[in-house]
Amino acid sequence: MTTAALVVAAGRGTRAQGTSSLPKQYAEIGGRPLLWHAVSAFSGHNLISHVVVAIGTDDGARYEAAIGQATAKLRPPVIGGATRQSSVLAGLEALATLQPGKVLIHDAARPFVSAETISRVIAALDDHAGAIAAVPLADTLKRASPSGIIAETLERGNLWRAQTPQGFRFASILEAHRQAAAAGLTGLTDDAAVAEWRGLEVALVEDLGSNVKLTTADDLAAADLKLRSAMATGMETRTASGFDVHRFADGDHVWLGGVRIAHTHRLEGHSDADVVLHALTDALLGTIGAGDIGHHFPPSDPKWKGAPSHIFLDHAAALIRARGGRIVNVDVTILAEAPKVGPHRSAMQAEIGRVLGLSADRIGIKATTTEGLGFTGRREGIAAMATATVLLPAAAGEGSTA
Ligand code: MG
Repeated sequence: MTTAALVVAAGRGTRAQGTSSLPKQYAEIGGRPLLWHAVSAFSGHNLISHVVVAIGTDDGARYEAAIGQATAKLRPPVIGGATRQSSVLAGLEALATLQPGKVLIHDAARPFVSAETISRVIAALDDHAGAIAAVPLADTLKRASPSGIIAETLERGNLWRAQTPQGFRFASILEAHRQAAAAGLTGLTDDAAVAEWRGLEVALVEDLGSNVKLTTADDLAAADLKLRSAMATGMETRTASGFDVHRFADGDHVWLGGVRIAHTHRLEGHSDADVVLHALTDALLGTIGAGDIGHHFPPSDPKWKGAPSHIFLDHAAALIRARGGRIVNVDVTILAEAPKVGPHRSAMQAEIGRVLGLSADRIGIKATTTEGLGFTGRREGIAAMATATVLLPAAAGEGSTA
């Protein structure tokens, strides 16, 4: 039975951002948007088959910058509604064609949900129509009179704080949400309440992690500090360079940074001869001591004839990911008299960003002529040099000899 995940990120919660209009799910903690952390927890979980995110009407560009393009597992986002309930229904309808057996619904504001909690909620759905992550109440609860005087002390023995993910058998929760919408109910604040209203049995699964909800600016700052200090203690920084040259031949376009650019010549090479992506691939391989592009994709192998060079870049990025690494930024300088690079800079950033999962501000694209000097000055070819910085778990490498 497959399990899908629906991450709810349609809220306008700008309270955490003060006067800024940036919804808090796009605020960065540990160098990544809050939403990225929440989505990654599910897209990286081996029991989750599909992930869809419900986003705000105006957040399409923000979503794409934060999460990137759709993949087989990560479906295109859906536009949510005015209330959390309507956003969830929109997400469930989008998942319906995939016919998952179970679905986990999660708030984007909980970026630290653990893989263990996700697994436990999924497992509980074997025995119950619904199961939600929750924490037994530690504080004593008081009911206040209108004047702020304690009217009653509540028995806390059986009280829990509801969290997310909230998991359900898919068909049951879709039907419950459709019925609730049809009945005009709009004030149900979580999905368990929708399920309860339909008489479904919902189990409580104790969350043992630190699955906190980030609400205020202070919450975000504390989470950012926590992530950054964890990263700084466990990770080491690696920087490496790459360089590539291809000569001109008869033709009418060149490939630079994954972008096809009309030109008086083409660049000669076994692949598409994209010097920018080749230099970048070598820089990335350099950060993990993994040789160079020719070592991984021998020019003698006919398989790579005419190959689009994003394949090489993707391979280098996958090797870094496989070591638990994260690319921080990349930077390229193109040496050429022509073509002009400026008009194509943002297209190159978009293409490289798509392959590496980086935002444009982490991708430097610069160009210079060589004042008519040397082989690039004589317009015999184009050269590119690149630098990449990655964070790598310190234990994953050979280790320091110190
Ligand atoms: Mg090359």
